[in-house]
Amino acid sequence: MKIAVLPGDGIGTEIVAEAVKVLDVLDLPFEMESALVGGAAYEAHGHPLPEATLKLAMDSDAVLFGAVGDWKYDKLDRPMRPEQAILGLRKHMGLFANFRPAICYPELVGASSLKPEIISGLDILIIRELTGDIYFGQPRGRRVATDGHFPGAEEAFDTMRYSKPEIVRIAHVAFQAARKRNKKVTSVDKANVLETFQFWKDVVTEVHAEYPDVELEHMYVDNAAMQLVRAPKKFDVVVTGNMFGDILSDEASMLTGSIGMLPSASLNTKNQGLYEPSHGSAPDIAGQGIANPLATILSAAMMLRFSLNQPDAAARIETAVSSVLASGLRTTDIWSEGTTKVGTREMGDAVVAAITKTITKG
Ligand code: NAD
Repeated sequence: MKIAVLPGDGIGTEIVAEAVKVLDVLDLPFEMESALVGGAAYEAHGHPLPEATLKLAMDSDAVLFGAVGDWKYDKLDRPMRPEQAILGLRKHMGLFANFRPAICYPELVGASSLKPEIISGLDILIIRELTGDIYFGQPRGRRVATDGHFPGAEEAFDTMRYSKPEIVRIAHVAFQAARKRNKKVTSVDKANVLETFQFWKDVVTEVHAEYPDVELEHMYVDNAAMQLVRAPKKFDVVVTGNMFGDILSDEASMLTGSIGMLPSASLNTKNQGLYEPSHGSAPDIAGQGIANPLATILSAAMMLRFSLNQPDAAARIETAVSSVLASGLRTTDIWSEGTTKVGTREMGDAVVAAITKTITKG
């Protein structure tokens, strides 16, 4: 088994180092190889996703990714910007299914901006389609309008589209995930206004016929945004398109207190995956040693479970993270009165120590 390790920019290098430390202590038979990506790769090789980095990712069973981006690259032409590296990896690896669990750890109930009774015990999974929708639809661009409200004016346009196979495969992913959880799927659409999402709704309903043991509900995206903060525990698996998923998964991430706690996985049809924290490169705190590494460490656990077939090792990491939180250690983003503030490295060390303890006991 081979893991491509792509730390990227900003806090990416700091948090990935901690995840690698955790993977090392598990002593499993895999090889890890690192490469530059994002702004770091642009500086060294003139491209955010150099040929060699892409080849390493494509030839590996899984990619452990940190984060890319920095405001200093905002003036570069779009294809050279660090964030293009992720879009390139998604496209070339065919990563169409994005999993973002939003779990509220009992110890962090107080870190959420929502009332404890609303989020205590929260465990939902957002599945976002990642390679279609208005983000990739062609044509797109700028032109002079020939119709509409202001003919002759400059305008910009994008194309929202989904093909049936794209919807079918993400619907299967959602129903199969729900079977391993609480057997409920909420499909989020905007079928009342958009043709693309009436089609989405029809196709998801068709696929549902193969999963009579799973409950399916349909919800408009505006209502879903509201229900996520009103009664998030009513959800189990939420499946939606690329753009709605982008927005709703960030909303769901904040339910749990800090974006620094949230892992994510993006998978293709061969279960090859890219695993990364849900947050970005946080240039505002980069280099200070205070970033929370837990989202990346939990992403490594997802990697062991989904792509490397090591569910026991995954569970060992997750248990270690829970025990470290229970012991009162907190990075700045999740710190509250009465807990002990630690830096990135100390948090990683504590997870390693908790794993070592279980290995010694076991
Ligand atoms: P961000 O997620 O990097 O940061 C948002 C806020 O959350 C910041 O205040 C940051 O300090 C904090 N934060 C994020 N991760 C944290 C962690 N692990 N521990 C503690 N605090 C944490 O989003 P942004 O500031 O909008 O974007 C910064 C850069 O990251 C931009 O260049 C953006 O394009 C890029 N970005 C990359 C990815 C990715 O690599 N997948 C995703 C989102 C944004």
